[in-house]
This record gives sequence, C-alpha cells and structure tokens, in this order.
Amino acid sequence: MTITEYFSSLFKGLHSLIKGMEVTGKELVTKKVTEQYPENRDTLQISKRFRGTLQFIYDDEGYHKCIACKSCERNCPNGTIQVITKMIDLDNGKKKMVLDKYMYDLGSCTFCDLCVLTCPTNAIEFSNDFEQSVFRREVLLKQLNYLPEKIKPTPAPATKPAAPAAAPAAKPAVEPAAKPAVEPEKKEATPEPAPAAKPAAEPAAEPEATQAPQPESENNENK
Ligand code: SF4
Ligand code: SF4
Repeated sequence: MTITEYFSSLFKGLHSLIKGMEVTGKELVTKKVTEQYPENRDTLQISKRFRGTLQFIYDDEGYHKCIACKSCERNCPNGTIQVITKMIDLDNGKKKMVLDKYMYDLGSCTFCDLCVLTCPTNAIEFSNDFEQSVFRREVLLKQLNYLPEKIKPTPAPATKPAAPAAAPAAKPAVEPAAKPAVEPEKKEATPEPAPAAKPAAEPAAEPEATQAPQPESENNENK
C-alpha cells in the first residue's frame, strides 16, 4: 500500500463515520413512533378493524341476538365454532329451539370474518383486544354466551278483530203492496225515428242512344 492509498482509505472511513453519526443524531431528536408496550397499555391505540377475538354482542338488558341458526358454524372453514342448542317450552305452550352454548376455539380461528358476515342477526363481532396469549391451549376454547340465557317474553297474540256488524235486518213482515191490478199506463214510447226514406226510385235507365235521324232536306238534295 502506498502512502497515497493509505490516506485515501483513511478519509473514506472518516467520511463514512460522519455520515453514520449524522443519521444517528437526526433520529435522536426525531419524534419516536415505536410503542413502549406494555408500559403504555392504558393509552395504547388499536385499530378498530383489528380482529383479536370473536365475541357476542349483548345489549344493556343482557340479551343477545343469536337465534341459534348455525349459519356461522356451517360457514366456518375450519370448524372453529360449535353451536349447541336445546328445546324449551314457551308460555304459549309451543316449543322453541334456543342457544345453549356457543363454543369458539380461538386457537384454530383464522380471523377470516366469514362467521360475522354470514350471521343474519348481527349477533357476533370481532373485538380488537389483542392480548390473547395464554399458557394452556384449553383456555383458548371459550364459551361466548357467558351471561345466563334469557328468553324474551313471547308477545301476546294479536286480538281478533271485533265481530262484524249485526246481520242486515230480516225481511219486513209486510210484503210491499201488491202490484196494482191495472198496470199504469205506460208512457208512450217515443216514436222511433222513421228510417230514412229509401231514395226515390232509381233513375230511369238512360235512354238508349239512338242514331239521330238525318234531316229530310239533306236527303232530298242528295237525291
Ligand atoms: S373468523 Fe373464520 S375461522 Fe374464525 S370462527 Fe369465524 S369463520 Fe371460523
Ligand atoms: S351467531 Fe348468528 S349465525 Fe351464528 S347461530 Fe347465532 S344467529 Fe346464527
């Protein structure tokens, strides 16, 4: 190595070092974008569309909208959902199939969202709760209807419409007066307009064309 090459490589190294320090210095004062999890758990912002785990939607009174139709179970591509049903007796003496247990295996879910999309009553949704790690796989099998099942009271059948108005009064006992013996004089019928008179007799046939007789005088001259 010549002395020129030595100093050239030395300056190249120094230049590279200064470039690297420049990038480091710039990032030192730039606002940080990394999340300091779990220290920032309370202020962590997770996208609403993030699919963490399937869950039931309960209203304020503790009712859910699942009608146990099993549509989600049939549409799940890997058997993650199991809808267990039971028959109950209603107040009106009829029987009804209702949900008993809604089992969901988070360990096999692929978060494809097909179950949510095909539910006819919008009874389920995905929560964006991402902290789902556990130590035992069995814990990942969850019963989503965790509240006691409540059956909404069956609405009373609609009352029948009031009876129709009373039948029309019976025929009057007294028959209407008998027809008069003599029929009233009929109104003179308005004379029908006489048919248009036939056109007068057809015009006489045109006289046959006859040869006009030659004047006599002419005939005599010719003689
Ligand atoms: S998200 Fe997909 S895989 Fe998971 S339970 Fe629903 S249908 Fe099944
Ligand atoms: S969650 Fe929806 S699709 Fe599944 S059984 Fe209930 S009503 Fe049917």
